[in-house]
Amino acid sequence: MTKDLIQPQNTIAVLQKYKFQFQKKYGQNFLIDPLVLDRIVQAASIGPEDFVLEIGPGIGTMTQALSAAARSVVAVEIDRHLIPILQDTLSDCENVEILQEDILKVDLRALSEQYHNGKPIKVLANLPYYITTPILMKLLESDIPLDSVTVMVQKEVAERMCSKPGSKDYGALSLAVQYAAKPNIVTSVPPNCFMPRPNAHSAVVHLKVYDTPPVTVCDPKLLFQVIRASFAQRRKTLQNGLRNAPELPLSKEQAEACIAACGFPPAVRGETLSLEDFAKLSDEIYEVLR
Ligand code: SAM
Repeated sequence: MTKDLIQPQNTIAVLQKYKFQFQKKYGQNFLIDPLVLDRIVQAASIGPEDFVLEIGPGIGTMTQALSAAARSVVAVEIDRHLIPILQDTLSDCENVEILQEDILKVDLRALSEQYHNGKPIKVLANLPYYITTPILMKLLESDIPLDSVTVMVQKEVAERMCSKPGSKDYGALSLAVQYAAKPNIVTSVPPNCFMPRPNAHSAVVHLKVYDTPPVTVCDPKLLFQVIRASFAQRRKTLQNGLRNAPELPLSKEQAEACIAACGFPPAVRGETLSLEDFAKLSDEIYEVLR
């Protein structure tokens, strides 16, 4: 097994040994910077009791570090060409299981039950950028027990996750993240820390998942639907967003009434509303639809 894959020459040696071809469609940009790797693993504060889910292990660079720190690790990789490589690079890591799957199709609740008796798990990933948001939404919207999520994402996405009402980056992702967790940008990461180099700058974000969300709502699923509907058509008013959402069977009059009941102006836009405002709106809509 090749150790210290984070050294570029070791990554290159493994890629050459297996004649590995990067697949753009899978967002493959492998990390080759030791300082950044340390920052990610430290930010997640992994201890010997922890179970870690790694999404997209690539050739196993971060997986080796996680294996050394955690009790056990499951690494879910979609690209079947990487499986023999991972079996080689992780051959000494007895606490690592490799699954060849699309993370979006994995039953995460069953996985957390199977590997960690349903206790809160830690998720780490240098995420494939083409499906960053669907993966984050799956993690945050599902009812799997989560302790934290520590991920490399495009810098712009990291900023969206942390942004507040009224800012240009504020949207459905900001609210979904901030309902579930406290986000913190750990470090920004330039393109030369990856092989091959991505076009955009990246950042590591740590999400410490709340035991109890900062707002209480009658139906969290409805809250997410309302948020999505409110930002689906960015330049439209909240009222239009709500009544045009396929997920929400609201008439124009009902949408108007819910907005008025919250004390918002009729032409209010979603990007000015806080999480607390959305919670209020979601509960008004809950009463109407029930
Ligand atoms: N963790 C490695 C590293 O840091 O060097 C690789 C990171 S690379 C940005 C993203 C990884 O996710 C690739 O290995 C890619 O094949 C994998 N991937 C892409 N889509 C995936 C999916 N839907 N499910 C699981 N893995 C996926």
